[in-house]
Amino acid sequence: MNAPAYIGRFAPTPSGYLHFGSLVAALASYLDARAAGGRWLLRMEDLDPPREVPGAQDAILSTLDSYGLQWDGELVRQSQRHAEYQALVERLLQQGLAYACTCSRKQLEGCHGIYPGTCRDAGHSPQNAAIRLRVPNLSYAFSDRVQGEYRQHLGREVGDFVIRRRDGFYAYQLAVVLDDAWQGMTDVVRGADLLDSTPRQLYLQELLGLAQPRYLHVPLIIQPDGHKLGKAYRSPPLPTDRAAPLLVRALHALGQEPPGELERARPPELLAWAVRHWDVGRIPRCRTLAEAQLR
Ligand code: GLU
Ligand code: ZN
Repeated sequence: MNAPAYIGRFAPTPSGYLHFGSLVAALASYLDARAAGGRWLLRMEDLDPPREVPGAQDAILSTLDSYGLQWDGELVRQSQRHAEYQALVERLLQQGLAYACTCSRKQLEGCHGIYPGTCRDAGHSPQNAAIRLRVPNLSYAFSDRVQGEYRQHLGREVGDFVIRRRDGFYAYQLAVVLDDAWQGMTDVVRGADLLDSTPRQLYLQELLGLAQPRYLHVPLIIQPDGHKLGKAYRSPPLPTDRAAPLLVRALHALGQEPPGELERARPPELLAWAVRHWDVGRIPRCRTLAEAQLR
């Protein structure tokens, strides 16, 4: 069987409801997949039960539904994939590619988020410890379809990073790489807040012998007060009764130029227009975009 030419996804975290910034990312990945005649999958990244907002999963699904963003196939939940993540963590530990870290948050203060390698050769037991992946002292680069060349030195700018937390939950970086490969993603379209996660993901792909998808990072929408519309910021759910105007607004954020009358169209009709006219070349080549600057 031939591998499909395009498989993309939207991968929300239920630590909050979908907000305008997530709509922009969801819409971009949907349009890119549909314009390529590809599949568009939905994966719930419910890796962090302590931070999950009750009801957020259902709210996300019904928002996508009322905005006409129909996904293909079965919804995948990362909470159902622990056995796979655990097997990988064990393998990496056995191969000496990962190690247990017992550093407290306090001990890591002043490291500016770059792990100094304290526990690299300590030989701690993995019980009750975080597991970190050793990174090579190399820089990883890729060519983003919108943002262009992006490069990061894993040793100097990131350090050995956590793949399983001390509380036993798995880290986003590990799960996203494993699942994107398992689901056969050819394309990752997401918000530019994840640009600086991509080199870690490239390293994991290389380590595991997985294919590298193409990447497209769309601008992150920020609020007038500088708040990024993201996980940390509890924004209200998107209204379900104003889908068309908000989709039009999201299209503007993506540099597309929908005719004004589409605001009165039904989401399916609006999305059909947007698929036909999808032009990646018009997406603003910036990392953030102020919501207030949008029409
Ligand atoms: N779950 C991540 C988020 O909501 C996105 C993961 C991804 O697209 O790679 O920020
Ligand atoms: Zn440590």
